[in-house]
Amino acid sequence: MATWADRCDNCHRDVISRYQLLGGRICNACYSGLRRNPARCPGCAEIRVLAYLDKVGARVCAACVGRIDRFGCKDCGSHQQLTGSQCGSCRLSERLADLLDDGTGTVHMRLRPLRDYLLAVKDPRNAVRWLKREPITATLRGMAVGQLPIAHTTLDELPLSMRTRYFRRLLISANVLPEIDVFLNELELALARFLTTIPVEHARLIQRYHQWHTLPRLRKQAKPVTTGMFANRLRGARTIAAFLTWLHGQHLQLSTLDQAVIDRYFAAASSRDELRQFLAWAARAGLCTKVEVSRVRSAAHPATMSDEALAELAERVLADVVLSPVGRLLALFAIVYAQPIRSSVDLRLNDVEQSEGRLWIRFATTRVRLPTSISELLEAHLEQLRTRQSYHPLANEWLFPGIVPGQHLAAGTGIGLLTRAGLRVRALRTSRLVLLSQTVPARVLSDVIGISTQTAHARSVASGGTWRDYPELRRN
Ligand SMILES: [Zn+2]
Ligand SMILES: [Zn+2]
Ligand SMILES: [Zn+2]
Repeated sequence: MATWADRCDNCHRDVISRYQLLGGRICNACYSGLRRNPARCPGCAEIRVLAYLDKVGARVCAACVGRIDRFGCKDCGSHQQLTGSQCGSCRLSERLADLLDDGTGTVHMRLRPLRDYLLAVKDPRNAVRWLKREPITATLRGMAVGQLPIAHTTLDELPLSMRTRYFRRLLISANVLPEIDVFLNELELALARFLTTIPVEHARLIQRYHQWHTLPRLRKQAKPVTTGMFANRLRGARTIAAFLTWLHGQHLQLSTLDQAVIDRYFAAASSRDELRQFLAWAARAGLCTKVEVSRVRSAAHPATMSDEALAELAERVLADVVLSPVGRLLALFAIVYAQPIRSSVDLRLNDVEQSEGRLWIRFATTRVRLPTSISELLEAHLEQLRTRQSYHPLANEWLFPGIVPGQHLAAGTGIGLLTRAGLRVRALRTSRLVLLSQTVPARVLSDVIGISTQTAHARSVASGGTWRDYPELRRN
């Protein structure tokens, strides 16, 4: 007697084979394979699932051997793109008739082009799957029954995502919605959303700048906005917001800023383009005096920053909410302790210790007691790691874990993070190194920074600068 656990006559594996087909018994996988791959039947020339053998052993359809058709679509009998008891087209028609019904049993007049467009796709099963996703289902449903306008403004309310973008493009392609520059529209939406997260007066100013400067130029150009332009503009808005926040923190205003202020701000920043444009616009609009934002200095001669400028930059990085905690910590380790990014990303969780109510960290061979401000930031980062880790099965040993489980953040990723925020890591670190070598004994310097005593000694030039806020380094 046959058992369930048997051999498949088709693929010859020892698996349950419960289908009496192909002149024997076949397994689930082989059954699905047949269903998925209908072909022209040599007996009747129709596209059919060929699951039976004729007298000479050729694969033919059920009808050609006088058997009851078990595969065909329950609505139209087709054997193509089968899904459940239906073919892809019948499933999609049914789904669309239901979803786009305006309440009278017919598809909403204005959504009929969408129905026709989708019914013409190559594999209707993909369209069926896509229609099941949110916010697609709810939005189309709402449009069909008149709860939501059939307009771009309805899509403007949805999350900014690839899915929404695809949805919008599809409605445009199907002639349901008029053609617009999709990225430009998204840029306006993303800007508007970003502006709600910053102080009102800053938001108004940036809004004004975009309204009169950026957007008209984007609208005027011949080619549509690309994803790169989109990202640049959004980053530009963040850069300007960070600058305005800094100004505010310095008790300065746009109307009172002068060249000295600009030079101070740009001592370490490299992403100047957007701010140069913004300040030029602001000067033309009479909001500030005309100032020069110099081009980035040649990398061959990295400018060294003053002690004061570095301390100020450290404060700015600490307060920079646009930069992620990881980015801020990497920047601060470079600014305050001259740590290269490649060393910082190599730090392990057990390089951090808590004692005397503060965090200590081991750079190279020396333990350093972190100042309260950095300590708090690191504490917050550790807390975030603990929360994230509880979702992750693999234990993490890195202070800055990367995307790949078990590996630390790639140095390049860390550098990119800071470069995008306008921080020139190498210049920061060089400046700090020069300053440290003026105040810290060469041996200590080599212990903390991990460079050889000789190199450190060579850098230990004339004394001068002080580093009041970070006395822990000197205590050694
Ligand atoms: Zn099989
Ligand atoms: Zn046939
Ligand atoms: Zn059908």
